[in-house]
Amino acid sequence: MKLGIVGLPNVGKSTLFNAITQAGAESANYPFCTIDPNIGVVSVPDKRLAVLAGIYGSERILPTAIEFCDIAGLVKGASKGEGLGNKFLSHIREVEAIVHVVRCFEDPNVVHVEGSIGPLRDIETINLELIFSDIEMLERRIQKTQKAAKSDKSLQNELALLERIQNALEDNKMARSLELTDDEAEFVKDLNLLTYKPVIYAANVAEDDLANDGATNENVAAVREHAAQEGAEVVVVCAQIEAEIAELEDEEKAAFLEDLGLSESGLDKLIRAGYKLLGLISFLTAGPKETRAWTIVNGSKAPQAAGRIHTDFEKGFIRAEVVAFEDLATSGSMAAAKEKGLVRVEGKEYVVHDGDVMLFRFNV
Ligand code: GDP
Repeated sequence: MKLGIVGLPNVGKSTLFNAITQAGAESANYPFCTIDPNIGVVSVPDKRLAVLAGIYGSERILPTAIEFCDIAGLVKGASKGEGLGNKFLSHIREVEAIVHVVRCFEDPNVVHVEGSIGPLRDIETINLELIFSDIEMLERRIQKTQKAAKSDKSLQNELALLERIQNALEDNKMARSLELTDDEAEFVKDLNLLTYKPVIYAANVAEDDLANDGATNENVAAVREHAAQEGAEVVVVCAQIEAEIAELEDEEKAAFLEDLGLSESGLDKLIRAGYKLLGLISFLTAGPKETRAWTIVNGSKAPQAAGRIHTDFEKGFIRAEVVAFEDLATSGSMAAAKEKGLVRVEGKEYVVHDGDVMLFRFNV
C-alpha cells in the first residue's frame, strides 16, 4: 500500500514525513519497497504478531508495511506547470490513497502561504489543482473516444460516462463524489483520476488539541464537515509531537502517549485509517523462523493470499490450513487447536479473514 502526502507549503508535511521515516521500518526487510528519499516505509502495528511468535518460538517478527510518499511542491497553479507542478501531480497518480495535510494549528512563527489559517480554503486550493489535472487528462480521453465512437457504437456509454465525470469536475466536484454502478466504478478506477483516489485529511493541530481529538478546534470541525460531504476520513495529528514520538523506543513511547492522554500515535491512526479506507486486512503466517503479517484486499480468496507470499504459491495452490488468530491464541498451540477442531482445511474459494493464521499446500 502506498499513500501520498500532499498539502500546501508550511502545513507540516515534511515534519510528518520525517517522523514517518524516523519511525521507519528496517528497509532491508522490505525488498519490494522502492529505495527513494521521498518514500518512507513503516510497519503496520499488530499486537497479534508477538503472541504468535511466542507460540511458535519464532526467531523474528516481520510486520507488514506501508509506504508513505512525500509529494511536496504541490502549490496553487501546479496543474498549469508552475513550480514543477505537473511532475508532482504525476507522482500522485502512482499512489493508492492520498493523505492531505491541512494546517489547523495557530503559530505566529510559522508563516501561512495565504497569510491566515483557513483549512477549507486550503483544501479547495489543493483539490482544484487535482481537478484541473484530471480535466486535462479527461479531455484527451474524451477526444480519443469520440473519434473511436464514430465507427464503434458500443463506446457511446463510455463516452457518456466520461462526459458525466467531466461535468462534475467542471462543477468543482471530486470524481469520488459521483454515484456510480459497480461496472462504472471499475471503469473509472482504471482511469486513475487523482480526484477518484480515496483521501484521508490529516488535520495538523497544536499539542493542546490532541487529547480531545480536536473536538474544541473549530478548524478541525470545518475539516470534519467537509470530509463528511466528500466521503473522506479525518485523522487528527500533531506533526511536531509525531516527530518527538518517532525518536522514542517502544516502552518510552507508550509512557509518552499516556502522558498526553492518547492511546495511539497519529502515525498509527493514519495507518489504521488507510487500511480501512482501502478495505485492507492482514493474514498471518508463523513458524520457528519467522512470524509474519501480509496485507491483502478484503474479499481476497486463499490462492490470492498465497500469491502475496510467492507467485508460485498462487499458481500451484492446492489447499490451506486455516485457524483464526483468537482460536490459536486461546488454545496455546497448533496441536491443541487441532484437537479442538478449530483448524480448518480450506480450498480455492475460501475468502480470507483478517487475522487468519494460514499454512499453504501447493504444487511446484
Ligand atoms: P511543509 O512545508 O508542509 O512540509 O511544512 P513543514 O513540515 O516544513 O512545517 C512548516 C513549519 O511548521 C515548520 O517550522 C514546522 O516546525 C512547523 N510545524 C509543523 N507542524 C507543526 C505543529 O504541529 N505545530 C506547530 N506549532 N508547528 C508545526
